[in-house]
Amino acid sequence: MLLILPVPRTPKGSLDEKNLVKSRTIHHIQHVEFVRASEMTLTRRNFLKTTSGAALAGCALWAPQVAHSQISLGDMTLDVVSDGSLNIPGSFTFGSMPRDELASILQAYDQSLDVLTPPCNVTLLRQGDRNILFDVGSGPDFQPTAGLLVESLDALGLAPEDITDVVFTHGHPDHLWGLLDDFDDPLFTEASYMIGKAEWDYWLDPNTVDAISSDRTAFAVGAKRRLETIEDNISFFKDGEEIFPGVAARASFGHTPGHMSFEIRSSSNAAMVVGDSIGNHHIALARPEWVSGSDQDGDLAATTRVNLLDQLASEQMPLIGFHINKGGMGHVEKIDDGYRFIAET
Ligand SMILES: [Zn+2]
Repeated sequence: MLLILPVPRTPKGSLDEKNLVKSRTIHHIQHVEFVRASEMTLTRRNFLKTTSGAALAGCALWAPQVAHSQISLGDMTLDVVSDGSLNIPGSFTFGSMPRDELASILQAYDQSLDVLTPPCNVTLLRQGDRNILFDVGSGPDFQPTAGLLVESLDALGLAPEDITDVVFTHGHPDHLWGLLDDFDDPLFTEASYMIGKAEWDYWLDPNTVDAISSDRTAFAVGAKRRLETIEDNISFFKDGEEIFPGVAARASFGHTPGHMSFEIRSSSNAAMVVGDSIGNHHIALARPEWVSGSDQDGDLAATTRVNLLDQLASEQMPLIGFHINKGGMGHVEKIDDGYRFIAET
């Protein structure tokens, strides 16, 4: 049996569409070779499922990093579903931060200055007969360590067609590109989509590709192309709107121009899906006021982060962070100069 191995990748400051297409082609070839070796006739959908399952059985490197967390709020259940992890140069996030103080904080968290390997925690909200995803992960085209959402959903007994609704926090690749499968077809065939109006307007604006920083050009091209595939099946919301019973949108601009968080509430119990407005468990909490290179508007994102953390700590409200460690679900606690994350385990 032919094993499907991850495509080796050297870390890059940015990814362009050409590199992404190249890596996807390699991915395709591996799938095709696998099917040839197994001499099976498969439908397209079974093909994807079978290759994923076989890859899991044959190659531990592809196993999803299942750090599964769950909380219940009234008749709602919130699960963290792993899409894998990313590999990001430290300079992308830490670039402008004061080096000496940064180094001592990162040391306390056993976090390297040179590279980050953040988890990708997609949130699944189950409410009655609705299965709602907050973001859809990276899909096959971004990084070889991510794009594992389908396997993680499968572990919960859910297939892509069981997803009834998809809500986006923002349009970055690790949150949006999982919209399409290996064949560039929509993966969640039964889902309706929602996104903040400001975020939609930003990525659909033809000027964004030129206005965005050069290391994010592929983000703009990739977001527009993917969002256009669902433009007949997407609705928009604004700050404060209740998008489902008990689920309110919360503007948390800065990481992207229209980034949204979501407060999910059942009477006095609530949790906040914060997306990337609190982007990691170390420096974003230890020094929330520091400008991070991973945010498109660093000053606005820092103000947003400070306000959110203040609320989460004072109300003792659980949060779910897309790139926060140990499953991404937990509380924040005020400490001397900032906050710390306490995982819900
Ligand atoms: Zn992200």
